[in-house]
Amino acid sequence: MPLTPLNFYPGPSKVYDQVKDYLTLAFDEGILGIQHRSEKFVEISKNTVTLLKKKLNIPQDYYVFFTSSATECWEILIQSLVKRWSYHVYNGAFGQKWLEYARKLRPDSTGVAFDLNAEINVNDLPIPAQTELICITQNETSNGTQIKESTILNLFNRFPDPLIAVDATSSMAGINLKYIKADIWYASVQKCFGLPAGMAVLVCSPRTIFRAKQINERNHYNSLVPMYEKMLNYQTTHTPNVLNIYLLHKVLEQRPLIKVIDKELTMRAQQLYDFFQEQISEGIALLVENPDVRSHTVLALKSDPKMIEDIKKNAARHNITVGNGYGTWAKNTFRIANFPAIADEEYETLKEFFLKYYA
Ligand SMILES: *Cc1c(COP(=O)(O)O)cnc(C)c1O
Repeated sequence: MPLTPLNFYPGPSKVYDQVKDYLTLAFDEGILGIQHRSEKFVEISKNTVTLLKKKLNIPQDYYVFFTSSATECWEILIQSLVKRWSYHVYNGAFGQKWLEYARKLRPDSTGVAFDLNAEINVNDLPIPAQTELICITQNETSNGTQIKESTILNLFNRFPDPLIAVDATSSMAGINLKYIKADIWYASVQKCFGLPAGMAVLVCSPRTIFRAKQINERNHYNSLVPMYEKMLNYQTTHTPNVLNIYLLHKVLEQRPLIKVIDKELTMRAQQLYDFFQEQISEGIALLVENPDVRSHTVLALKSDPKMIEDIKKNAARHNITVGNGYGTWAKNTFRIANFPAIADEEYETLKEFFLKYYA
């Protein structure tokens, strides 16, 4: 059993091992005290945006912004792109929270929940006319489900007028997302990016910026139009998380293209699902029964609450952290991240642990 702790929490999650060296490097290079209006910062920021687009396959004409969190992105998008209401399609805690945040800012915002094992029935969505923003969560971290690429494309084709915003917090940088098929994508970096918490990446289509300019909302430090204006010169409206931008650049340099990462993660996800389904006792089951909607980056496993407690404690005794359940599934599930920064060997150790105690 491992001496070094293994961390399978789906966010904040294990950071890349190399982060240790990059932190020292940042210190030695004097990055930690640079001015955010300096040429040095602009160079780092610009290089990071360029590399993000290249490594994640983000269209060249899309805009990239640095924010502090995915939660902040929920607010920015409602503040700056919605005058009337947004419409939310969700099946778990994060999607639902986004709707709650939206309602505080735009009380007419509404939405519809869909079943854990279901796909979104795009043709029957009762989205009101004049909806400005449709909000979905590509990978619902709370229950380990994901929305397929074809569903997002259907949504885009069926509702050409509203902007489509996608919370991809636990899939961006893990899955090869087709950015062209929606307007807005965002993720905080403490999940698939394998970085310390405290920053998020927000990606917007040209159409998004066009709408933002039409609305021209400027009441907040993080209103989209001022953010866009500053980002024309790779700057931010406020002092950003310079260290995390630097780390993001360093980590991206070392990472393969997203195509490659996606393929590896998808394969590893399948192996993990097979493992838990076939080799582990009937007391532990996959939460999501429909294989078509199972997440490739977050696995949710269910059992009775007593067993869940036992698994978490037993794992902790072996220096292994698994993720708690979340929201509705807090007590009767645990979660396992399948993120790029976690090595295959670590999953082998995890499997050994489960084989030893729960087969
Ligand atoms: C983690 C998570 C969030 C919240 O991220 P913060 O960085 O804490 O704001 C939002 N949405 C999803 C899908 C998440 O997994």
